[in-house]
Amino acid sequence: MLNIVLFGPPGAGKGTQSEKLIEKYNLTHISTGDLFRKNIGEGTELGKTAQKYMDDGNLVPDEIVIGMVEDKILNTHGTEGFIFDGFPRTIAQAQALDALMEKNGSQIDTMLALDVPEEELIKRLLNRGITSGRTDDQNEAKIRNRLDVYKNETTPVANYYNKQGKLNLIHGVGSINAIFNSLSDVIDEHI
Ligand code: ADP
Repeated sequence: MLNIVLFGPPGAGKGTQSEKLIEKYNLTHISTGDLFRKNIGEGTELGKTAQKYMDDGNLVPDEIVIGMVEDKILNTHGTEGFIFDGFPRTIAQAQALDALMEKNGSQIDTMLALDVPEEELIKRLLNRGITSGRTDDQNEAKIRNRLDVYKNETTPVANYYNKQGKLNLIHGVGSINAIFNSLSDVIDEHI
């Protein structure tokens, strides 16, 4: 098993790079944002609850996120590993993920943290709002709130993995392929 946490602020390119990485390394993509949007699209109770938080750019409560990720892991069979994208976003989520991995006789092998300056993030997110229809990307105040939430609640997660010697900072500005190559270089050290 090869289990990777792909980390970084909203707009850092986690989704784009995940798509390429799962193909190259035969991994299963677990994006909590995508899972919530799927639930919202299907009108599930989970989706209705999550939407209230997502609309304002706040975090969905830990127990909801953790339960959803556990379900997804338990329902995935025969995979060579996971890429976690947009998860964990709090220390409690990181601790729960370690416990889940341990229960499966596995572990998080490495964290890849995409580093992108804030003004570039805002530009990318506003552009994505135009093309994707994501309402949380269409309003600069909501975007700034998500970036604040990231700074206050999510950046400690990088330190959590740093203490385990698993943090790798990757420069996230440049061509998609150049960034993909930087990520692949680090992953190749772990296989
Ligand atoms: P972005 O990284 O661009 O903000 P995501 O698709 O990862 O986009 O997340 C969209 C929203 O979903 C977040 O603003 C948050 O409300 C919710 N969300 C996603 N993942 C998590 C998580 N791990 N913990 C709490 N809330 C989450």
